[in-house]
Amino acid sequence: MGKGFFQVPPANNEPIKSYAPGTPEREEVLLTYKELYNTKVDVPLYIGSEEIRTNNTATMHPPHDHQHNLGVYHLAEKKHIEQAIETALEARKKWSKLAWEQRAAIFLKAADLISGPYRYKLNAATMIGQSKNIFQAEIDSACEIADFLRFNVEYMSEIYSDQPESDETAWNRVEHRPLEGFVYAVTPFNFTAIAGNLPSAPALMGNVAVWKPSDSQVFSAKILMDVFQEAGVPDGVINMVMGDPAMITDVVLQSPDFSGIHYTGSTEVFKDIWAKIGQNIHTYKTYPRIVGETGGKDFIIAHPSSNTKEVSTAISRGAFEFQGQKCSAASRVYLPKSLWPQIKEELIEDISSFKMGSPEDMGNFINAVIHERSFDKLAKYIDQAKQDKDAEIIIGGNYDKSVGYFVEPTVIVTSDPHYTTMETELFGPVVTIYIYEDEKWEETLELVDNTSAYALTGAIFSKDRYAAAEATDKLQNAAGNFYINDKCTGAVVGRQPFGGARASGTNDKAGSKLNLQRWVSQRLIKETFVPATDYRYPFLGE
Ligand code: NAD
Repeated sequence: MGKGFFQVPPANNEPIKSYAPGTPEREEVLLTYKELYNTKVDVPLYIGSEEIRTNNTATMHPPHDHQHNLGVYHLAEKKHIEQAIETALEARKKWSKLAWEQRAAIFLKAADLISGPYRYKLNAATMIGQSKNIFQAEIDSACEIADFLRFNVEYMSEIYSDQPESDETAWNRVEHRPLEGFVYAVTPFNFTAIAGNLPSAPALMGNVAVWKPSDSQVFSAKILMDVFQEAGVPDGVINMVMGDPAMITDVVLQSPDFSGIHYTGSTEVFKDIWAKIGQNIHTYKTYPRIVGETGGKDFIIAHPSSNTKEVSTAISRGAFEFQGQKCSAASRVYLPKSLWPQIKEELIEDISSFKMGSPEDMGNFINAVIHERSFDKLAKYIDQAKQDKDAEIIIGGNYDKSVGYFVEPTVIVTSDPHYTTMETELFGPVVTIYIYEDEKWEETLELVDNTSAYALTGAIFSKDRYAAAEATDKLQNAAGNFYINDKCTGAVVGRQPFGGARASGTNDKAGSKLNLQRWVSQRLIKETFVPATDYRYPFLGE
């Protein structure tokens, strides 16, 4: 085992490539895009050393071209989930005992594979399968995932160095043990980085995982599995299964060895999973760790002292990048009446210049929304807004699913601060704006705080420091990631640890030491050098 106090390589954020016209990376990623687009893949279940093809399959399609067939993935039955759990537990016997530096080396290699030879493949797969433009893919499936892997190694070594005081009579040591059992990782469609981080963070800490990716992210999930295998993650440490999410979850949550869930996705699904864990609590050998990052209804509020161009740019980027399908996307905005005419003009000018279409055409800022269910939901809210007297669509409002699931970036202005799209998470390119009277700044802060069940991200724009301080104070519980004079999206691993409270999650901050701490359980060892041989204390003397 350990024969040295090893120092891990310092973690640095992966530099973002520009993909500007004429750059080699642009050419490479487009070539890889074409190649992947025109090859059909067949994604098995990965259970231990086996690639299982059940021949009960679902097809994959790019959201921007839903008639194009990318291939299939295989769907698990109950017996496969049971097999995945057994396989993980078997793998745990060796993996949980492997020295930490060996585990670290595997995941550092995974990071280098992603930032190097797999970069264009993972980016192209994310562009195709999740309809991200190249910049959105690069910050996610190249940079953020490499950052997660590298920073997590650094955090792991900090956690292991965290030791209690000792004196000359006894040595106190803490072991940060992996959880006893297996971890269930359930991941959303919208970030390839989250999909990679949720199973690999517990695995880095010595745990084994059963990973269920989103049906809408399997195309890039398969490439993550290729990376994990090439990096040397041993068979059975991360098992990937697809299929009916409710069935898979039920089987997992009934296992006595279920020791934790690492979840990111919508709030309702998480609450349902939490309730099931509660129902099964007498089954488990250990209290499971429940870590979930969920929905958002993220805000921007501008003070009358704000710079209008800064505010309109934050809305253009914060609400519409990746079609608003970020948990942190700005979806409710509060603007002072005095600034509104100017911001409105700037916003309409920006949005009118957006181009929408396939990510293969790099001029497109906007691509398709993820699937038909999402498209139909967005269309329903847009149609409703067209009819409602207290709502007005000032730009956008059209949609078309004939080729891909395209929804125009849409701005609704409402006179009712509790209008449905100010409160409900739509998860698409729709932002709702409420105009407040300048003198009602304080009341508006209360409104921001009380309007939504969520508390993920929020931003305040102000040139007035007193107003910024007041908003920071009043909105203390309204967001887990709070931005002053910046948009509310774009958290970077190691710089802005990410997560929210209220209905937005357990706030265990992905991309921080805190998150990794959830995947270990401390054992304190006290070793006394010369043990006592007489029970009597001095106070008992004559
Ligand atoms: P989703 O809830 O539809 O799916 C998330 C995962 O849960 C998927 O793997 C899905 O298959 C699984 N799932 C669905 N139904 C299930 C069930 N009945 N039982 C068990 N598992 C089930 O979410 P999505 O559409 O993939 O992602 C969007 C959501 O994720 C949004 O609400 C967004 O705000 C949230 N999100 C949050 C964060 C964060 O850090 N807070 C990050 C990304 C996404």
